[in-house]
Order: sequence, then C-alpha cells, then structure tokens
Amino acid sequence: MKKADGIIIAAVLLVAVFFLAMAWVRGNGQTVVLYDDVTEIGRYPLTDERTIRVELENGYNTVVISGGTVSVSEADCANQVCVHTTAASRVGDTVVCLPHKFYVVIK
Ligand SMILES: [Zn+2]
Repeated sequence: MKKADGIIIAAVLLVAVFFLAMAWVRGNGQTVVLYDDVTEIGRYPLTDERTIRVELENGYNTVVISGGTVSVSEADCANQVCVHTTAASRVGDTVVCLPHKFYVVIK
C-alpha cells in the first residue's frame, strides 16, 4: 500500500505543478503601463478586460486591454500609426503614438 500512496502523492504534486505552470503561461504578473512622454499615467494587469480613454495634451487615445493583448482602438492623431499597430501581447511589446508622445508598454 505504501507504493500506491507514493504514486498518489506524486500525481497530486504533478497536478499542482501543472496548474502553476498554466497560471504562469497565461501571463500572470504582466502589466500594461501607459506613458505620457516620460511620465507614467496608468498601470493595468494584462489579464484585465477594459477600455481606457486617455486624454493627452494633443488629443486622445483609446486603449483596449482584452484577451491578454493591448492595442489602441481609436485616436485623433494625424498618422493613425498607433491604431494600425498590431496588438501587443508579450513583455517588451509596445504601441507608440508619436504625435501624442504616448506609449503603451507591456512589463
Ligand atoms: Zn497615434
């Protein structure tokens, strides 16, 4: 019976490790940081589901955090580069709006 107990304990440990690994892979702890030029103006978990309208000196950007990605859905800047940037999803990814000096970074 001792051998069986050992197998059960090993199985429970394996399951625990599996769930920890899943939580890690899902990006727990990844943070979306918003910058107005060099000033941090907001910080949200990447796991959030939310839309943030950011009012800046030169206009606005609408930031959408959804499904583990962050993107700019709307802005009134001249070139619309930020709106057309692919949604960011990994640490180090950025969305930049140069006309507004506005940056979104995943940390
Ligand atoms: Zn822009």
